Amino acid sequence: MMTSTDCQCSGCEGMRERYAKDPVLLDFYRRRLLEPGWPGELDDVELGYLKSHLQRSNRLRTHWGFPRGERRLTEGGIKAVALWGLPDDASHNAELVRAARRTPDSGAEGETPATNEKVWAVSGTSGHPGLGRGGF
Ligand SMILES: [Zn+2]
Repeated sequence: MMTSTDCQCSGCEGMRERYAKDPVLLDFYRRRLLEPGWPGELDDVELGYLKSHLQRSNRLRTHWGFPRGERRLTEGGIKAVALWGLPDDASHNAELVRAARRTPDSGAEGETPATNEKVWAVSGTSGHPGLGRGGF
């Protein structure tokens, strides 16, 4: 179970390393980061921590608005909920996850409209009308 002090996951390892000198801060961050809307630094260590715990806990995932049965956690989704999420509004968070998915970060879906470049025929009114003159 996810007791905040003796979790051995790789995410917690990273956090432990970072706050090795300050167990109080470590405990504080490990609790707060799991709250939607409390972004912290969102660097590799914190994202790794969040990802690892979201992967391991169905309840946390639901809380963060990731669809049930969804195995893929997008970094964009995690960031969005960390930044703008609400701790007690899972449906708001779900919207953030959905919106983050729609923004093309790794070229998921979304067709890029084939831009048919228009080629403008330049009519040569500014040319030299008398260029061919002089032959006859
Ligand atoms: Zn952990």
